[in-house]
Amino acid sequence: MNLGIEELPASCDVLVIGAGPAGSAAAITLARAGHDVVMIDQHIFPRDKICGDGLIPDAHAALRKLGVLDEVMAQAQASDFVRCIAPRGGVIDVPGALAVLPRKELDLILCRAAVTAGARMFAPLRFVAPIEEGGVVVGATLQKGEATQALRARWVVLASGAVPQALMAAGMSERTTPSGVALRGYVKNDAMVGRIDKLEFVWHRAVTPGYGWIFPCPGGVFNIGVGIAESHSAPRDGKLAKREANLRDVMQEFTRIYEPARELMAGGTLLGPMKGAPLRCSLAGARYTRPGLLVVGDAAGSTYSFSGEGIGKAMETGMLAAEALHAGGDDASARARYEAALAALKPRFELYQRANNVNRYPWLVDLLIWRAKKSNGLLRRMSGVLNETSNPGNLLSLKGFRRLFLD
Ligand SMILES: Cc1cc2nc3c(=O)[nH]c(=O)nc-3n(C[C@H](O)[C@H](O)[C@H](O)COP(=O)(O)OP(=O)(O)OC[C@H]3O[C@@H](n4cnc5c(N)ncnc54)[C@H](O)[C@@H]3O)c2cc1C
Repeated sequence: MNLGIEELPASCDVLVIGAGPAGSAAAITLARAGHDVVMIDQHIFPRDKICGDGLIPDAHAALRKLGVLDEVMAQAQASDFVRCIAPRGGVIDVPGALAVLPRKELDLILCRAAVTAGARMFAPLRFVAPIEEGGVVVGATLQKGEATQALRARWVVLASGAVPQALMAAGMSERTTPSGVALRGYVKNDAMVGRIDKLEFVWHRAVTPGYGWIFPCPGGVFNIGVGIAESHSAPRDGKLAKREANLRDVMQEFTRIYEPARELMAGGTLLGPMKGAPLRCSLAGARYTRPGLLVVGDAAGSTYSFSGEGIGKAMETGMLAAEALHAGGDDASARARYEAALAALKPRFELYQRANNVNRYPWLVDLLIWRAKKSNGLLRRMSGVLNETSNPGNLLSLKGFRRLFLD
């Protein structure tokens, strides 16, 4: 499959900027519906993306809808549980459809599916600025090396991820700082295969306001990392500010307080350097639309606060934007459809935003696990949140939220 540069056309129906999960999901959906789609990325694929690589149930649902779930699962490491580990060592396994696949492979599958569907992919090509006429976006200026080229499009879908430069260039950024930051590395350690076979989240005072994780990838490789929520909000004390400034310190703390992490690192081989990246969460920090342009995925803040999971919702927002455009009508009605679809997702994001308290006060996980051990109902509710089978509206009421922790 040729994912390289062909002759860039002068115009298309829809220009998708960014070939991550959000962009590819939009491109697949639009191309299958018969639209002339051009997708560009600043990197040649396959490319690495700094991520935990965890696929939670919403990602499974989106991949199924895009018709690539079987292909993804044939390469991924499947798991039936998320393991939550509390500061005092309490453990609970929350059931769900889960998997881990390095983004280099996942994003290539999605990008290929877009090309198979008929989208034309050009990389490396960088979005520089929108082309505007009378306040309407009618295309984009793209750059390769020193050369720039204009591409006109009826619609532009901006799927440029959490790094804000493209969002700012498009005039859509409401906040340049991220909602959180995270650091990850790959460790090869065959001796730990079978010992860590679930997606593990670890909360502890030493890694507040965040958590550590170990996710088993295929082939005896583990994705290990730490994430810090609300990394750029005003620090509450000097200690916190210092910790936030250096994720590598937090990572060191994680391997100090969590024995399996220490063992994994000590007995394994780090494959390449540990790398950090920003997250944009809670559907906040950007305008979603302007005439001629829709923002999808992390650029629109589609990552869950608290857990930092965003692959599933990135694809979902990409598909929602595509469906809004395909439904036809004028610019205003397509944009209104997309904005309404995002508004319908908001209660779920608010629930995860509230759950962020757990990252600040990790003793809440001790309480939660202690309660869940005694109550099948609580475990079912936790699984309902993970699997998105529960109504977030019910859980968002003060009573509902208290029940999640206390009943
Ligand atoms: C360390 C870390 C761990 C994470 N772990 C998980 C996890 O385990 N599970 C999970 O679900 N989520 C996780 N996330 C979140 C997840 O990575 C994002 O939610 C997801 O990548 C969003 O997809 P996207 O398509 O919106 O953006 P991206 O995947 O970031 O894709 C954006 C694309 O746009 C391209 N681009 C950007 N600017 C330009 C430009 N100017 N011109 C052309 N192309 C451009 C980029 O090259 C990139 O390919 C993690 C995030 C981090 C930082």
